[in-house]
Amino acid sequence: MNTLDPTTFAPLERAAQDPVAYATEWKERTGGLVIGSFPMNFPSELVHATGALPVIVQESRTTITEGRSLLPEFYCSYTRSLADQAATGELEVFDAFVLVDHCVQLLGAADVIQRVIPDKPLHFTQFISSMDDAWSRGAVEEKVQAMRAEVEESTGVTVTDESLTASIRVFNENRRLLREFFDLRRTGRLHIPASALQVLVKSSMVMDITEHTALLQQLLDRLDTLSSAPEHLVRLHLSGHFCAPPRPELLNLLEECDVVIVNDDLYHGSRYISTDVPKDGDPFAALASWYLDRNVNVPCATRVQLDVDWQSYLVDTLADSGAEGVVTLQAKFCEPLMLYYPELRRTLGERDIPELLIETEHEGLAAESIRTTIETFVERIRRQRSKQLLPA
Ligand code: SF4
Repeated sequence: MNTLDPTTFAPLERAAQDPVAYATEWKERTGGLVIGSFPMNFPSELVHATGALPVIVQESRTTITEGRSLLPEFYCSYTRSLADQAATGELEVFDAFVLVDHCVQLLGAADVIQRVIPDKPLHFTQFISSMDDAWSRGAVEEKVQAMRAEVEESTGVTVTDESLTASIRVFNENRRLLREFFDLRRTGRLHIPASALQVLVKSSMVMDITEHTALLQQLLDRLDTLSSAPEHLVRLHLSGHFCAPPRPELLNLLEECDVVIVNDDLYHGSRYISTDVPKDGDPFAALASWYLDRNVNVPCATRVQLDVDWQSYLVDTLADSGAEGVVTLQAKFCEPLMLYYPELRRTLGERDIPELLIETEHEGLAAESIRTTIETFVERIRRQRSKQLLPA
């Protein structure tokens, strides 16, 4: 296995583990505003262009207490955690919130935040989910301008073409570096724990992006790559898990079962870094393009588009990475994923691609039961491998 330089990795890990502590320290250091956004489609560049710190609000590891009475138990863990964080004062560091997604559960959490901490402005502008109608682009461009006005109101700073173009450049560079790690992993030249790769992406969602980019570059400069992938391990693709990252313990558990994760379409993974914002032309229109392009690059169950779909993308990407099976991680009660999942399963089944669904919860991990399930799944793939090696 490769090792990431521990001194460079440490601040990234700290920020990923405690984004609020990072934002608090940043605020004290710079005197700037901290603006929280919610997954999965808010363009952080818009906030960055005002000089404020854009932070994608993360699921907290804290046990949900106060939040229990604020949202129904059948809401996903991310939204119940948001409600809890609002009620327990964990969101105090944020000066305002911005939201462009409209998952019903997320909107429920946004309502709770508004009710529990009414002094914090929360701006909602809905980016439409129908991606390929004749009017889609124009509608998204309008919404970008509406969100621009909201961000300007919250920060008191005008976002100019120049400032937004500069922010786009900075974020594109960050995504490019993150993609280098993912590309190296896919080709087998980088073998690090999936939880470490998650740290790189999660920290990019919450840290000052320039600081983050410098650390990423340093990690890459000090990285020794492998000459080839470890062949004895079963190669898997991780799919699903919107809005919040799967627990690192779950990723470790997978890897303890003779598995190497070679690719993913997780939000705290490839999905987040898949697409750059076009760097030329009107930068506000470019943010709309980014939103539309992203669903082409890594289709999402929360969007509707006739000419792309998640299952076709998945089949293509497996061919590219050489993954031998798919583990779908589904946050319990994540409705968009639950509705889409049968389609994914059917497509993979038709192609005889092994697939395993693991449901996750905020409250914990049934480690031993999951371990047994994964071991059985890995054994099934190994048998499939052996069959393919037999002479016809
Ligand atoms: S998309 Fe899924 S994980 Fe995200 S807020 Fe909606 S239900 Fe929760």
